[in-house]
Amino acid sequence: MTRKRVVIIGGGFGGMTAARFLRDAEVILIDRTNHHVFQPFLYQVATAALSPSDIAWPLRTLFRSQSNVRVVMDDVVAINRTARVVQLRDSAPISFDALILAPGSRHAYFGHDEWEPLAPGLKTMADAVHLRERMLLAFEVAERQRAETGAQNRLTFVIVGGGPTGVELAGSLLEIGKKAMGPDYPHLRLKDLSIILVEVGPRILSGFDAKLSAKALTVLERMGVTVKLNHR
Ligand SMILES: Cc1cc2nc3c(=O)[nH]c(=O)nc-3n(C[C@H](O)[C@H](O)[C@H](O)COP(=O)(O)OP(=O)(O)OC[C@H]3O[C@@H](n4cnc5c(N)ncnc54)[C@H](O)[C@@H]3O)c2cc1C
Repeated sequence: MTRKRVVIIGGGFGGMTAARFLRDAEVILIDRTNHHVFQPFLYQVATAALSPSDIAWPLRTLFRSQSNVRVVMDDVVAINRTARVVQLRDSAPISFDALILAPGSRHAYFGHDEWEPLAPGLKTMADAVHLRERMLLAFEVAERQRAETGAQNRLTFVIVGGGPTGVELAGSLLEIGKKAMGPDYPHLRLKDLSIILVEVGPRILSGFDAKLSAKALTVLERMGVTVKLNHR
């Protein structure tokens, strides 16, 4: 019996898990990057607490011991369901018997896409590294200004959105400030760092139990984060 060919688009949690379980098929796993990313720790890379290699693994290495899986790094640009073919940006088209779509999701700006260049999202490793550069550059500029001019203005980070990522980022930024201000940036002190978390709803972590939201709010405020609820 000839094996069915299953094409999977996306090597995230979804695509990777599907490929792991499909042992009897010929599997072609396509991703535009060559690695799987553990997205829940992206914010730690963004705040320089972890390195990119701590949370990313090459897809080829992950499937090295599963000979029925072939990894293709390319961008899927079109799917022809009738002909059962996917079109790729750089490689030849690939036909399939069955197709699994696991391309993940995109961040949303709630109708304000013009904000994206100013406040890029946090979905990929490239996003995390970009955010990290911008954050560290802000520390550098503040240190230089303080050293050269004695400017007393605070270094302020505003995080819009009190969901899990916003809450984690706020806590993580403060942790970085605690560690770095003084030892690494001798002209800056923790009190110079201002972190403001803005949430339009009446509580942070609204997807969680109300008691947990209240607890998270207390912890953040105790740490020194300013949380502005009911603010748009
Ligand atoms: C900052 C952050 C924190 C999170 N924290 C948690 C948490 O604590 N707990 C939790 O349960 N979840 C968390 N999540 C959510 C969780 O990480 C996602 O739900 C999960 O990664 C989604 O998996 P996925 O396989 O659907 O998509 P993804 O992991 O996004 O993978 C999609 C893959 O498809 C590829 N792709 C997309 N389009 C194409 C194309 N056209 N051609 C080729 N390849 C393509 C992408 O390169 C990517 O590798 C977090 C997410 C983020 C961003």
